[in-house]
Amino acid sequence: MKAKVLVIEDNEQNLYLITFLLNYHGYDVIQARDGLTAIQVAMETKPDLILLDIQLPEMDGYTVASRFRSESAFADVPIIAVTSYAMVGDRERSIEAGCTGYIEKPIDPDTFIPELEKYLSIRRKDTDGKDTDR
Ligand code: MN
Repeated sequence: MKAKVLVIEDNEQNLYLITFLLNYHGYDVIQARDGLTAIQVAMETKPDLILLDIQLPEMDGYTVASRFRSESAFADVPIIAVTSYAMVGDRERSIEAGCTGYIEKPIDPDTFIPELEKYLSIRRKDTDGKDTDR
């Protein structure tokens, strides 16, 4: 079974592109356009991976990542920051805030899914120690 991915993104074009790529590769997508909604939705849907835009309205991505990490239910869920290539400090700050890794914007449709799957496989090995066909 393919994983369920929560996409937190306030830019409609990016949200559309990411959703399209994930759906095309068979993933279930849950969308949220701000951090508070994302946390509520995550509690209800238990995503396998979270894609997190850093520049969000109201609550920024660093705060959203910290909030997720403070919940035991999300302690080991991969959180991938989606950071602007130009914003060099964002990557380090994302990791400090609890993100597992980052993918750079603009989204490259050819490398996006392989990069994301790298993080899904990391979690798989960490949680059950063996490779499962998910
Ligand atoms: Mn944004």
